[in-house]
Amino acid sequence: MVTQTATGLDGTADVILSVRGVGKSFGGLKALQDVSFEVATGSITGLIGPNGSGKSTLFDIITRYQQPDQGEIRFAGEPLGALPPHKVARRGLIRTFQLTRIFPNLTVAENLLVFAGGGRRRHAAGEEKVYELLEFTGLLRVAELEAGGLSYGQLKLLEIAQVLMLDPKLLMLDEPLAGINPGLADEIVARLCDLRDRGMTLVLVEHNLPVVRTLCDTLTVLNGGRVQLTGDPETVLADKDVREAFLGD
Ligand code: ADP
Ligand code: MG
Repeated sequence: MVTQTATGLDGTADVILSVRGVGKSFGGLKALQDVSFEVATGSITGLIGPNGSGKSTLFDIITRYQQPDQGEIRFAGEPLGALPPHKVARRGLIRTFQLTRIFPNLTVAENLLVFAGGGRRRHAAGEEKVYELLEFTGLLRVAELEAGGLSYGQLKLLEIAQVLMLDPKLLMLDEPLAGINPGLADEIVARLCDLRDRGMTLVLVEHNLPVVRTLCDTLTVLNGGRVQLTGDPETVLADKDVREAFLGD
């Protein structure tokens, strides 16, 4: 598989996200410098790099929770400009929130229903979607339990179900497998593959390299706030400089 090249810069259909020349400083610290990469529609892209390399900052900038100092983000051919995060989300660019939007005193099903949107007319459709997503994530048997009683892994699945309520075109996940036992991690990886098979595009920050190798179609390596390399996982993870910088070889 080859790295997607400049085809998307004018908004062609096969590139859903393009990040061009993004820079961000915090005081004197250049957290991101001239970061550019593209995400092919229907692909899974992994964003990897050492701690402090700028992954979360880039994630925030793409979803508009932070503004870049320089550069441009285009989603589905349109520049995001100064759109606020909720409007970006309405266009289908959705991110996870690391469990901060889970209500412990609501049931699992209710935690999904709150994302169905207002209005009585939409309620029935919302309930159907909740049911489908409970089934998809394997949470159906705990649907009526309070979310506060779930295991950490189940909460991560609930979080994924929550964002799926919003019908993402592009789903951004920051360390979806962090702190999860291997059995459940396999489950989550399988669900992410299902989502790609349904045509969704995924971008994830993830440290688990064996998972990244099998799951991702493309990897972009950040190092010191710059893109070190973009390419298919085999090539990137075999690269001498990447291994030196990131894997301690
Ligand atoms: P990563 O997610 O790859 O670990 P981050 O994007 O969190 O990296 O951080 C990149 C760099 O920017 C780090 O040096 C971090 O300390 C710094 N940084 C991130 N956010 C802020 C902030 N709000 N204020 C100051 N420095 C920040
Ligand atoms: Mg981070």
